[in-house]
Amino acid sequence: MSALPRFALLASLVAASLTLPAVAVEAPASPAGVTAVTLSQQAPIHWVSVAQIARSLDGLPPMAVGFDIDDTLLFSSPGFYRGKQEFSPNDESYLKNPAFWEKMNNGWDAFSVPKEVGKALIAMHLQRGDHIYFVTGRSATKTETVSQTLQQTMGIPADRLNPVIFAGDQPGQNTKVQWLKEKQMKVFYGDADGDIKAAQEIGIRGIRLLRAANSTYRPLPLAGALGEEVIVNSQY
Ligand SMILES: [Mg+2]
Repeated sequence: MSALPRFALLASLVAASLTLPAVAVEAPASPAGVTAVTLSQQAPIHWVSVAQIARSLDGLPPMAVGFDIDDTLLFSSPGFYRGKQEFSPNDESYLKNPAFWEKMNNGWDAFSVPKEVGKALIAMHLQRGDHIYFVTGRSATKTETVSQTLQQTMGIPADRLNPVIFAGDQPGQNTKVQWLKEKQMKVFYGDADGDIKAAQEIGIRGIRLLRAANSTYRPLPLAGALGEEVIVNSQY
């Protein structure tokens, strides 16, 4: 590069910098701060591990156990996020739209991430010889691939698979209760208050899994608030 073009470049850069609008420099917000007390604050929750649940069932004969699906076994927010964008970007009415459920129940679980804690629980109950049921608040559709997705991602042998029960969602009614009763379940796992309440309503053990922080299902529930056991590290 000759001296003249270099000078011209420099001059144009200086000119550009002179014409830039002044940017107000804001003082950094002062941090809220912590104390040793706030840092160590813990809620009095009954935490359990999968191994502790297994030990608590030692010696008991095979039993029926149930699982919620969304945010319990599958991180299915990708499909729900897509559904809201496509069917009702401004409200939650997509959850009442059969067209959404057709998509969600027939393929969009290909984008659902199976939860590690779900795999560990299912493996434990399969080993015990328990009967495993899935009870979801999703609306029923004529066909579904959710059962197949769960079979594959949770490692369930075909002859041990019970197809998903689509309990649906009725305002003012806990639609899961009747199914927990009918299948004579002894334990029910879920992330929502409704899952734990359904179990407690019929006097069986409701065990909470944490809903992942990035779930689209808000607000996040208060795990342990119903006095139930909560599984450690169950957000994934
Ligand atoms: Mg759920």
